[in-house]
Amino acid sequence: MEGSCARCILKIHQDGEYFFLRVWLKRVNNMEILRVDNLCKVYGEGENAVHALDDVSFTANRGEFISIVGSSGSGKSTLLHMIGGVDRPTSGKVTVGGINVYSQDEEELAIFRRRQVGLIYQFYNLIPNLTVDENIILPCLLDHRRPDNKKLERIVEMTGLSHRRTHFPGELSGGQQQRVSVGRALVNDPMFILADEPTGNLDSKAGREIIELLMAANQREKQTLILITHDEKIALQADRIITISDGRIIRDEVIRL
Ligand code: ADP
Repeated sequence: MEGSCARCILKIHQDGEYFFLRVWLKRVNNMEILRVDNLCKVYGEGENAVHALDDVSFTANRGEFISIVGSSGSGKSTLLHMIGGVDRPTSGKVTVGGINVYSQDEEELAIFRRRQVGLIYQFYNLIPNLTVDENIILPCLLDHRRPDNKKLERIVEMTGLSHRRTHFPGELSGGQQQRVSVGRALVNDPMFILADEPTGNLDSKAGREIIELLMAANQREKQTLILITHDEKIALQADRIITISDGRIIRDEVIRL
């Protein structure tokens, strides 16, 4: 009787620990990783001033997949660049993992961009005279780090480029080039993957493959994925859709938890 009671207490204790462990894991996984406060970006001055971002605020959790939609010229790319440490805002704050991104000096900002951000553009931006392997490891080299061969092999395999490793970008299809740029974005295990219309230049099959790759990285590594798209079907695959108009967030909808 005593023994079974002790076993019972032990079981409750273990279940309790398991419960708290699950709550803790959920909290860690849902941790706020990005905070954008009252962000404004003005290009130009006086009569020529363009208010590209006008008082934008939102937060994102670790591992979230957010689509950003809105008409051309509404400020989507500007917002992505501000999050990625590419261009300083006119006012407002971007906080990543508790660090005020733009309180850093240029060198710290460059390190932030290299290590914490994987950027993917519509037109790949590969270096034409570097091979597939060399393009993928470029962020490591720029960061004065020795590329990890095992990781490179994993990325090459994951992106379906194993048979093209020594090829140059000019010898690849658009879809393959975009897969190289996804590999390059992932090589430093960034906190964020920021993709600016990554399927905009691809046919629907190649585009689907790119989105599957990005979603796999987002789900497997819990990297926060923020993706600009004009394609409603792609936007609907995200956890959340933010709509921008005239530099402001006009809608922020959670699609799935
Ligand atoms: P979207 O990505 O939604 O098409 P952008 O963020 O590229 O919009 O641009 C928002 C506004 O800011 C547009 O009116 C655009 O012309 C302007 N803009 C963007 N970059 C610059 C720049 N470097 N200099 C001046 N105006 C710019």
